[in-house]
Amino acid sequence: MKITRKEFLRLTGLSLLAGGAMRVVRAIELGGSGVRTAASQAARLGMVIDLSKCRESDGCSECVHACNAAHNIPEIANRAHEVKWIWTEPFGAVFPAGRASYAEQSYAKLEVPLMCNHCADPPCTRVCPTQATWKRDDGIVMMDWHRCIGCRYCIAACPYGSRSFNWEDPRPAVAKINPDFPTRTKGVVEKCNFCAERLARGMKPACVEACPQGVLTFGNLANPESAPRQLLRTRFAIQREPELGTGPSVYYLV
Ligand code: SF4
Repeated sequence: MKITRKEFLRLTGLSLLAGGAMRVVRAIELGGSGVRTAASQAARLGMVIDLSKCRESDGCSECVHACNAAHNIPEIANRAHEVKWIWTEPFGAVFPAGRASYAEQSYAKLEVPLMCNHCADPPCTRVCPTQATWKRDDGIVMMDWHRCIGCRYCIAACPYGSRSFNWEDPRPAVAKINPDFPTRTKGVVEKCNFCAERLARGMKPACVEACPQGVLTFGNLANPESAPRQLLRTRFAIQREPELGTGPSVYYLV
């Protein structure tokens, strides 16, 4: 079944219907931790990535494959033109020495999964001249490709390299088109959307569902009872460059 733009916007909560974002959060909490509390009124969706589990599966990249398939990510041979929503980089390149004490040695060979941090104070949204990117009430930083004029200010503003630009038509480079998700065009920016379209259907993000080791835990960071908060209460966690003040909503357990 091919999804129309109108239906996509409705599913992802872009139709500006009051309370849409909150319904998504409640769906996640009911399907995730099973706890529905007053804390769900204030939402900040986030991800916790357990690198010790990721190391056990030797960086299998199932999360990357699942995301690529779900979102019609093109496979472009020219690295300068590549499009990525989740990708991996070596631990030492992601986290400067000293960030995780002595953990660097044991994680030296690990390829760390990276994605948009869905920052609490995202610099990318501030610079967009057409409001093609914005932060929802539940914390997800969204993109509307139809509003994007390709100026790439957001790419320059993001300190994490989380955004990609379609330098060429991506459609011929998509291995198998998923009809439930829109394809993009040459000249627009894209990035991870925390699977907003799946959350709206009560599903988990594709990467979370695909990981064979349960490395990724998604939920409402504003709820002390949520699954990610329970992990953050008991494990040592680091973020990518928190000193920049962007407030990343993706945490890494080491
Ligand atoms: Fe914006 Fe980059 Fe933060 Fe994502 S990681 S919200 S693209 S600044």
